[in-house]
Amino acid sequence: MIDVLIVGAGPTGLTAGCLLARAGLRVRAVRKHRPFSGHSRASVIWPHALEILADTGALDAVAATGGRVTALGYYSSGTPIARFELDRLTDTRFGYALGASQHDTEAALEAAFRAAGGELEDGEVVDLEQDDGQVRVRVRADGRDLQHSARYLIGADGASSTVRDLLGITMADVGPRVRFRIADALVDGLPGDEAGYCWTPGGGLAIGPHDRHAFRLAHRLAPGSPDAAAPADPAAFQRILDERGPRHARPVVREILATADFDTRFAVADRFGAGRCFLAGDSAHLMAPAGGQGMNAGMLDAAALSRRIVEARKNGTEEDFLPDYDTERQNAIRLIMATAVEHAKDGGLGAEADIADRDRRYAAIGSDPQAHLERVARMCQLHVPGHRPARV
Ligand SMILES: Cc1cc2nc3c(=O)[nH]c(=O)nc-3n(C[C@H](O)[C@H](O)[C@H](O)COP(=O)(O)OP(=O)(O)OC[C@H]3O[C@@H](n4cnc5c(N)ncnc54)[C@H](O)[C@@H]3O)c2cc1C
Repeated sequence: MIDVLIVGAGPTGLTAGCLLARAGLRVRAVRKHRPFSGHSRASVIWPHALEILADTGALDAVAATGGRVTALGYYSSGTPIARFELDRLTDTRFGYALGASQHDTEAALEAAFRAAGGELEDGEVVDLEQDDGQVRVRVRADGRDLQHSARYLIGADGASSTVRDLLGITMADVGPRVRFRIADALVDGLPGDEAGYCWTPGGGLAIGPHDRHAFRLAHRLAPGSPDAAAPADPAAFQRILDERGPRHARPVVREILATADFDTRFAVADRFGAGRCFLAGDSAHLMAPAGGQGMNAGMLDAAALSRRIVEARKNGTEEDFLPDYDTERQNAIRLIMATAVEHAKDGGLGAEADIADRDRRYAAIGSDPQAHLERVARMCQLHVPGHRPARV
């Protein structure tokens, strides 16, 4: 019998797969689709997730494609209000984030997973049952049904998780649903080492290095707004950069490589597992992508879970570690979401007095070393329960 069956081979499932396989466990991942889609999703990997990526064996390959992000820049109507430097961080060996396409991150993780002896197969998990000793799943592949059994199962099967449904776990909204537009674009003039949050009374714009060449641009599509009616073309993104971007940089859109409009939610599963089955990543929690936190949180889930599974296998114990995992990650996710929701709220202010107050607040954080450190650590998911270099 295999030790761990992982449903899904996105960044969460593959991270868990690498950590478990590198610890000597027998691991199989089953995935429904090949990962390629028209556009990439996550583009920023923060320092805590970089620590985990280093433990997966995939860091060098991701770093070879990614660009280093060393600061968070905040702009109010084009004027800089604060710049938070990542090299101020004291409790990580990474004083930077990586801007890397999720495709490249997944490809690096897949290679590391296979190199560690992990087995990857195409198929759709359609049913599962469990008892005290094992989990049995039914996998549909090429029109045939196969059975697999494993000691543990990780449901890393994304936002519409089948595992979550089969376990009878529900997911509740904890914040507003928001529609976003993103572009991966070649833009002249923007700093390649900065994730930028550009806020104006008419709307915001998040900018981040997407890899070594392109930038990710993301903005909200409020219902009925001119942004929602505009086509996703270079002229529309140039207009938004002119209106909201860092004024001193005078950025110019050279080429749009890909665009997508999508709906986002802030939502958390009521439990992160049942019995020998666990949820991790988007199957357990969803957050709007403007703060760049979702994939990072999934990698942290993967590390927290893998560490417990490896300990249980090494000690030969059948201890129930679900409550411990559930509490640690629910608390962490609450903190991460509170930061993301507060960030979105700060970016959405429209009244002059509120904006002036916010700008003063950000400038004060920027010039107070302790507040500066605390703010950067929160964005990087470092000040969450269970932070430790992920060694499993
Ligand atoms: C436009 C956009 C931008 C984003 N930007 C960022 C960012 O900058 N930073 C960040 O941290 N996050 C970002 N995110 C969020 C990030 O993309 C997700 O949080 C991340 O992909 C979640 O990874 P996952 O492995 O949990 O799930 P997924 O990536 O969704 O992977 C799910 C896997 O499960 C498989 N699967 C599904 N159902 C089954 C089944 N029944 N049987 C077998 N396999 C199954 C799928 O094929 C897939 O392999 C962004 C999201 C979007 C949409």
